[in-house]
Amino acid sequence: MKQRVIVATRNAHKVEEIRAILSDCEVLDLSAVEDPPEVEETGTTFVENATLKAVAISALTDALVLSDDSGLEVDALGGEPGVYSSRYAGEDGNDALNNAKLLRELTGREDRTARFRCVIVLAQGGQALADFSGAVEGRILQDGSGGGGFGYDPLFAPTGHDQSFAELGEEVKNGMSHRARALEGVVAWLAAKS
Ligand code: IMP
Repeated sequence: MKQRVIVATRNAHKVEEIRAILSDCEVLDLSAVEDPPEVEETGTTFVENATLKAVAISALTDALVLSDDSGLEVDALGGEPGVYSSRYAGEDGNDALNNAKLLRELTGREDRTARFRCVIVLAQGGQALADFSGAVEGRILQDGSGGGGFGYDPLFAPTGHDQSFAELGEEVKNGMSHRARALEGVVAWLAAKS
């Protein structure tokens, strides 16, 4: 029987990527939990926020819960937006406003190196069980391009590619992304447990 995993996120793109990568698992979204609370991301690190989400949701179900906290670190901006990636343009912002702010902040900057980071926490019964991390290095393009992916994907070209994650498409992204690398750890952990 397939291992059932509930992904503790309201971001449908994350669920889709995790489902594609964890193809041996039954990956469910938050609709599998009755009245899931909005978990406030009060932590200052990816692992703190991922733990908050996984622990809170896993207290409401018997199933294994997986949470993903992730973001973009830009070297010329001292690692910003980092854990605040989803709120870079403010609490009422969105992907387009976040991307516009990033391009504004990098205007005239030569150094455009950056990386996506992802921390995944597994939890069950209100207890964190394990955490896994992954990163992918790259650079921020001068302009957004491509219609795939989400978030900063139109602006991020992974090292070795001239195209953005949004242009490269889901198969290429899911083969090398920060999320895919963190999920490699999850796959190994699940295999060792079974
Ligand atoms: P979280 O939901 O608090 O983990 O915020 C994640 C934010 O980081 C997203 O809203 C995006 O802005 C950014 N992010 C994380 N992973 C990706 C990715 O794979 N592509 C593009 N942006 C990402």
